[in-house]
Amino acid sequence: MVEESKEGRRCALTVTDADAKGWRKLTREEERVIVRKGTEPPFSGEYEAHVAPGVYACKRCGTALYRSEDKFDAGCGWPSFDAELPGAVRRLPDADGVRIEIQCAHCGAHLGHVFEGEGFTPADTRHCVNSISLDFRARS
Ligand SMILES: [Zn+2]
Repeated sequence: MVEESKEGRRCALTVTDADAKGWRKLTREEERVIVRKGTEPPFSGEYEAHVAPGVYACKRCGTALYRSEDKFDAGCGWPSFDAELPGAVRRLPDADGVRIEIQCAHCGAHLGHVFEGEGFTPADTRHCVNSISLDFRARS
């Protein structure tokens, strides 16, 4: 009985903690990509061919991550950026041992992967990001 109530308190605390952080509640598909590091199918995301002035923010915590000025068409099927906003994106070795995973530096949401040396733009960097991890905010 004591163990059960302890467990219950721990769960309650976890939920309260996420709520307190102001994180958006995710759909199942958002959770699959953002929390469990999945990948949306290529050419399927709403921002793949999206062109408008504004900022792309983290879907979960709302932190601004990328500017539309740094978005380019890599033809790879996902939104591509050659720069992030300063300090907004964290790079980590992917579990596959080959790629570099990128996450929202604020909340740890999985964004996609970053590639260098492909020569797409002068910055020679491609942040390959899942649309579903992003929330576009138009500049007025
Ligand atoms: Zn975030």
